[in-house]
This record gives sequence, C-alpha cells and structure tokens, in this order.
Amino acid sequence: MQLPALRNSYAQLPERFFAQTGPQPVSEPRLIRFNRPLAEELGLDADQFTSPDGVEMLAGSRFPEGLQPVALAYAGHQFGNFVPQLGDGRALLLGEVVDVNGIRRDIQLKGSGPTRFSRNGDGRAALGPVLREYVVSEAMAALGIPTTRTLAAVLTGDPVHREVRLPGAVLTRVAASHIRIGTFQYFAARHDTEGLKILADYAIERHFPHLLGQARRYRALLDAVVTAQADLVARWMLVGFIHGVMNTDNMAISGETIDYGPCAFMDAYDPGSVFSSIDRVGRYAYANQPRIATWNLARLAETLLPLMSTDENEAVAEAEEVLRSFQPSYEAMLQRGFRRKLGLLTEAEADLQLAADFLDVLARGEADFTLGFRRLGDDLDASEGQGTARQLFRDPAAFDAWSVRWRERIASETADTATRRAVMHAVNPKFIPRNHRIEAMIQTALDGDFTPFDEILGVVSHPFDEQPEMERYADPPRPDERVLQTFC
Ligand code: AMP
Ligand code: MG
Ligand code: MG
Repeated sequence: MQLPALRNSYAQLPERFFAQTGPQPVSEPRLIRFNRPLAEELGLDADQFTSPDGVEMLAGSRFPEGLQPVALAYAGHQFGNFVPQLGDGRALLLGEVVDVNGIRRDIQLKGSGPTRFSRNGDGRAALGPVLREYVVSEAMAALGIPTTRTLAAVLTGDPVHREVRLPGAVLTRVAASHIRIGTFQYFAARHDTEGLKILADYAIERHFPHLLGQARRYRALLDAVVTAQADLVARWMLVGFIHGVMNTDNMAISGETIDYGPCAFMDAYDPGSVFSSIDRVGRYAYANQPRIATWNLARLAETLLPLMSTDENEAVAEAEEVLRSFQPSYEAMLQRGFRRKLGLLTEAEADLQLAADFLDVLARGEADFTLGFRRLGDDLDASEGQGTARQLFRDPAAFDAWSVRWRERIASETADTATRRAVMHAVNPKFIPRNHRIEAMIQTALDGDFTPFDEILGVVSHPFDEQPEMERYADPPRPDERVLQTFC
C-alpha cells in the first residue's frame, strides 16, 4: 500500500498522551465524496486518496506501512459535569501535513472503530451525522469562520445500531490540531504538571509560536486562547450558529469550531434557540454561547495555574485578569460585525442600539435571521415601506419604523449604494445550511441518492453569491418543514 507518509508530531509526545490504534477492517469501503480543493490546499495528492488503497485508509480499514495512528487522551466537562477520561472514542489521528501556507494540520478519521477511550460506545459514526458535519463544516469555512474542515466521507458497508439500523460512515476531519480545553483538564485532573507543561509548550509552538520567547508564556497562552474564543463565538453569533454541545472537550485551543454534532443555524431569530436533543435545559442556547465560552475558559485557566506562578494567589489574580478580557474582546468583534451587517461604514454612538433594536424587531416579527440581514442590502434602493425585507415580518409596521431610523443613519454617510451593498453582501450570507434541507438531504442519502448532498454542499460553499437556480435553498422552512431537534 503506497500512500503519503504523514508526519505525526503528537505521537512523539509522551505515551500517556494517546493510545496507538491499528486499522479495523470494514466490509465494503466506498467513497462518498473527496474534497479536492481542500486536498490541494493541504498539498495532498487527491488521486492517491481516492484510489482503492486510499479509500481503505479513509475507512480506517487498512493503513499503509509506517502510519502510526493514535487516539488522543482528553477529559472534559460535559454539560457542567467533569469526566476525567473521555478521549477519542471513535476517532483516530492519522497524522499531520504542513499545508501550502506552512500551517501544520491534523488529518483525523471519525467513526473508524473503537479505541481505548470508547467506554461503552461502538466507535462508529452513522451516515447522517457524517453528511451533516461535512456540509456544516464546509459552510462555516466558506462563511469565513475558523473551523475544522472535511476532507472526505466514506461508507463502510457495515451497519451501525442507534435507535435503528443505519449505514456506517467515516468522516476525515482536518484541524489545526485536536488539542481541546479538555486535553489540559486530562493532565490537571491527574496532577500531572509535567504533562501539562509539555502540552502547553506543544500548543504554544504549534498555534502561537510568536509567544515562544515570552517571559510569561503560559499567561500569554491563556490570553491567546481567550482572544481566539471570543473572536470565534462572536462570529457564530453574527451568523446565527448554535454549536449545540459546548462541552470543554469540544472547545479547541486553536480557536476553530470543532465537533459538529447537534449543531444548527437559526431560521427565525430567537435568542433562546436550542436544537440539540440532549440539551434539555438550554445550557447551550444561542444567547448563552458567550457566557458558556467564558465558563469553559475559566476551566482552562484553572489547569494553567500551576504553570503560571508558584504563588497560587498571584496565579489566580493573573488568570482572572486575563479572563476578564473575554467580554471586551467579544463585544468589540460583535459590534464591528453588526455594523457591517447593517451596512454602516463609520462609527456612531447609537449604532449598537440600532443593531439591538433590529434584533428585537426580528424576534418580535418572527423573521428569518439570515434573510432579514441579507434583504436589507437587497433593499438599499427601495423606497420607504417597499422592499423585500419587510415581507419577512409578521408585523411589517415595526420593521418600517425601525427602517426609517436605519435609513437616516445610512444617509449620514457618503458611500454610494453599490459599495454599501457589496460590504453587506460580503458578510450577510444568502445561503446557510438550513436544518430542514439537511434533514431532507440525509433521508434521501439513506435511500442511496447523494444528489441533494452534492447540491447543498455546492450551494453553501458559495454562501454570499446569488445562485438564481438554487433560490429554494435560501428559503426558510414552511411551518410543517421546521426541524425542532437535532441529534448527534
Ligand atoms: P461528543 O459528544 O461527540 O463530544 O463525544 C463525547 C465523548 O464520547 C468523546 O470522548 C467521544 O469520543 C465519545 N463518543 C461519542 N460517540 C462515540 C461512539 N459511537 N463510540 C465511542 N465513543 C464515542
Ligand atoms: Mg467531542
Ligand atoms: Mg461529537
């Protein structure tokens, strides 16, 4: 079996960081889709990966000589409860590549069979969630949001048993790394300060190399992660994305969105939106996401205390100071984002109120979040009380009243309409991976037809472009199409 020799710097770390795991044969590996543009970015030979040997590897069924895949150890708070050992229960780090930009990226299989960390799980993934992760992760990337990517999806030919029998599949995930807050918690829970230090140094070198020479580098690491997470969560909020399972084991140190399970984009704007079937109390509701991120970061900070200072009080004071920077970072990002979404090219005191009031009008009008913003840009030339945005609102009068204020604010700037529209349409997507479309696509794929999968993937890969023949993918669900819950 001739395949590229992937490096694996993580496997060079001490043995307690991972578990070496061999291939686990599947019945009939079959490629669903391979992401050629991504392969190119990674400097990988697509033809090798799509060859019969390549597909065997992508199914976790057979590995080329010299490949030493590992399942990573980590812990985590799941819905607020600490679990000292989680780990890759159904994932395998095949290795790493250095991409065309010189960035080291992990190539990981998800659904490739049990590992030492599987607990009671079967180590497998069902086709539906694999296709959902493929579509949503690629949509996020196209929206410009830091995220893991999907390189490939394959069928295994073997069934997996959930409530029902489903086709098994394996997703190939690409990530800046798979180090999570939970990875730090794993070593902290074992009072393994040496392991923590090795992990922290590895994370700094890999993700924040500019911090290497710094005197207080563990404080700087915390600071960098806080900034990255604040930036990330603000970006989620700006597109109406709900992660769904913001457990500390699902928060990457790199600041990429990771672990697409029961995630969703909002249709009608509702800050309390929750879709995940396992989130009974709404812990990870849309509007809670920034608060949860700070809670998660506080868990990371706790693990770093012993590295930050031998004086615990001093370490705690430093950590608290760093954690307090989340809110201003987050707000700055959010405010900048909402200004652009509203087409405001200058800054004025009342802008934030204007944005907050628009959200309020959206909520009360049960209007679609994505189209609400997109159509503001479409309607720049429309006269007062006209246009397509107002049609989204149950009560267009409230929108009209807000629109008068917004138009006055815009009139205070000199930019021409075309420029403003270009700014708005570059941040307000027309196409998001809507739940009802994803669910319908999965059902069709279960019947063996991947046409809607290819179609939806194509559409959300160009979220800001007009795609007249794909207009239906921009539509919110009809009441009978609405998806109320998503599952992992
Ligand atoms: P998640 O909810 O996807 O973040 O997963 C939480 C933990 O459960 C991680 O340690 C996963 O590796 C593990 N896990 C999830 N699904 C499975 C499965 N089917 N088999 C084994 N482990 C699993
Ligand atoms: Mg996870
Ligand atoms: Mg998961």
